[in-house]
Amino acid sequence: MQDRRHFLKAAALSAAALSLDGITSEKAQAADASKGKVTKPIVVSTWDFGRAANEAAWDVLKKGGRALDAVEAGVRVPEADPNNHTVGYSGFPDRDGRVTLDACIMDELGNCGSVAALEHVTHAISVARAVMEKTPHVMLVGDGALQFALANGFKKENLLTPESEKAWREWLKKSEYKPIMNIENSSYGPDKATTFNPLKLPGNVYNHDTIGMVALDANGNLSGACTTSGMAFKLHGRVGDSPIIGAGLYVDNEVGAATSTGVGEEVIRVVGSFLVVELMRQGYSPEAACKEAVTRIVKKNKERAKGLQVGFLAINKKGEHGAYCLQKGFNYAVLSEKESNVLIDGKHYF
Ligand code: ASP
Repeated sequence: MQDRRHFLKAAALSAAALSLDGITSEKAQAADASKGKVTKPIVVSTWDFGRAANEAAWDVLKKGGRALDAVEAGVRVPEADPNNHTVGYSGFPDRDGRVTLDACIMDELGNCGSVAALEHVTHAISVARAVMEKTPHVMLVGDGALQFALANGFKKENLLTPESEKAWREWLKKSEYKPIMNIENSSYGPDKATTFNPLKLPGNVYNHDTIGMVALDANGNLSGACTTSGMAFKLHGRVGDSPIIGAGLYVDNEVGAATSTGVGEEVIRVVGSFLVVELMRQGYSPEAACKEAVTRIVKKNKERAKGLQVGFLAINKKGEHGAYCLQKGFNYAVLSEKESNVLIDGKHYF
């Protein structure tokens, strides 16, 4: 705790010239790049709930720990948060009332592990890591993933909280499957007739989100983690982009790392995170690479893309970060010695 306070103080001083927006962040990155400086360690993650996750990741990174350990520790925070209904415990269930989780993890050596449609285990990310480290496979799904988890010491839990069950029962009344965008001009929202707010919480309630986190450690190694309960009220068995290596997450220790959030079907179509990393390999900045991946989604079907949210987030080997999304409303959290867990709005296509 003491360490953290010192860090924050130091960060506040060194970041005195930085405000909490993306523009100054870009300027700082450009200045560093021209000096050939690498910002490390650094961790970035999707959405405002990424800030609490970043804190946990930073506890590992600031001690010189491995990016892999940092991203696992980081995303376990929203996985365990009962107030987060889009990741882990208390995630909104599928249309049959079952909470099914998707997650994957990837390290600096290209090792990766993944679970899809996993039930009854809060920390899907740790099961994904166990798949990576203890099996010759990359991906386990459904009951096989659960059996593997139980055999490896994970406890069987009920992930459906009374709140999430209430939301599902509310949804059942109409049984209308529709992703609800976290964007300001959504047809859903507190001021709209179609408000989706079964829990009567203040503000908008969205029915999908993911924590995607990528980090560069003090040794200059990259890793990433991605975990979600997926689209609320999805068909049982539906798997999104988040557990798919290359779609929801990709790490190449020579180049950079990327992750995604939003409607997974769109991300899978363009193999989004792999695309972002390959574009960075060709010299694109993280933001330009994310923008090009978003543009690919639009090119496939502009009308469909207009009604959906997808956001990409990336860092490169220099510790530069950037994001881009389809619609206004996506943000990400950045924590390094220069940027003290600032929340940055992603630029958007529409
Ligand atoms: N990408 C997730 C999925 O499709 C959901 C989200 O991030 O909003 O399952």
